[in-house]
Amino acid sequence: MTDLHFHGGFGIDLMTADTQSLDRLASRLFKKGIDSFAPTTLSHEWAGLLECLGRLGTWIRQTQSLPTPQAATPIGIHLEGPFLSQKKRGAHPSSSIVSFSPEKMLQLYEASHQTIKIVTLAPEILTPSDLVWLKKWSAKEKIILSVGHTCASYSQTAHALNSGFHSATHLFNAMEHHNRFAGAPQAVLDDQTCYAEIIPDLIHVAPELVAHAEWLKPKHLFFVSDSSPATETSDTCCFGELKTKVHDGASHLIDQSGALTELLCGGGKLLPEMTEQYLNWKIARPSIPTRTSKTPTTIDLTREAISRSVTIPAKLIGAKPSAHDRLTWKIARFQVTLQVNSQKKLKPKASKKDHP
Ligand SMILES: [Zn+2]
Repeated sequence: MTDLHFHGGFGIDLMTADTQSLDRLASRLFKKGIDSFAPTTLSHEWAGLLECLGRLGTWIRQTQSLPTPQAATPIGIHLEGPFLSQKKRGAHPSSSIVSFSPEKMLQLYEASHQTIKIVTLAPEILTPSDLVWLKKWSAKEKIILSVGHTCASYSQTAHALNSGFHSATHLFNAMEHHNRFAGAPQAVLDDQTCYAEIIPDLIHVAPELVAHAEWLKPKHLFFVSDSSPATETSDTCCFGELKTKVHDGASHLIDQSGALTELLCGGGKLLPEMTEQYLNWKIARPSIPTRTSKTPTTIDLTREAISRSVTIPAKLIGAKPSAHDRLTWKIARFQVTLQVNSQKKLKPKASKKDHP
C-alpha cells in the first residue's frame, strides 16, 4: 500500500525523528503492509520546520540511493502547512501559520534537498501572481499541489484546480462547507480529474459521505491514514509542538493541563488496518450504497479497497505498485474469495417443500 499522508507512528514523530528512528519506522511499516509513504510535516515555527525538512530530506535521499530491503520507501515529503487558513488550521499551531511567498516556498524546498513531493495549501491565501508562479514551479519540479486546510469557496477551489492544483487533502476535513456555502469539497467532487485523499477510519468522515465521494469520484478518491506519532501506542506522544494520544481509534490533542481534548489531531490507525476496517464495514452495513451495485459484494469491495489504497495513490505520484503490494493484495483477495465461497456452500438449498 501507499500512504501519502503519514505523520508518524509507534511513538516516532517525523518532526523530530533521527535516522535510526526513521529506519526503524520504515521497517515496521513494511511489516504492517505499507510499501511506500510520504513523510508528512506539521506546521512549525520557521527555523524548526527548516531543520525538520533538512533531516527528512537527507534521510530520503540516502534511502532512495541505497534502498533498505524489507522497509517502506519514502517517496518524498508531503508539506502540510505552514501555508494554511488560520480558521481551518485544525491542530496546526496558530503561531506557525504564515502567508505564502515564492521565496518562502523555495527556501523550504531547498532545505528539504528538493525532496518535497506534495504541498497542501489553502488556495484563498494565494494572490493571482502566487498562483501563476506555483503552477509553473510545480510543473517544473513535478510537485503535486493539494487543496487543504481551507476556507476557499467553490469558485476559488475550481479556479485553483484549473491553475495547477491536482489533489485535495483529507476531503471534508478542515474544509469550509455547509448548506449555504458550497466550498472546496463540492468543487473537488465536481472536478473530473482532481484526486482526493479521504481518511476511512469512520471517525473523520461519516461512512455515508465516504460512499458518496466514491460514487462521484471512482477513479480519483484514495485512502490515507493521516497517522499521528501516537498510532500503535497507548502513550501520550509529542507531535511537533503538540502532544497527542490515541482515544477511541483516532488521535486527539492533549491540552496544556494534560487533559484529552475533543480536537482530532490526525489518524490513530495505520492504513492497512483502516482498509481492512473498510472491507468489514461495508459488509456489515449493506444498506450503504456502493458505486457499482445496490447490493454490495465482497469481491467488488476488495477491488475498491485495492484501488484506493494501492493503485490510485501510486498513479498520482507516477509510480507502479510494487511486487510486495501486488502480493499483499493478491492474498487479501484470495482470502475474501475463500470466505465468499465457504458462505455459499453453507447456505442451505431451498427445497420444493419450501416453495410449492
Ligand atoms: Zn495531516
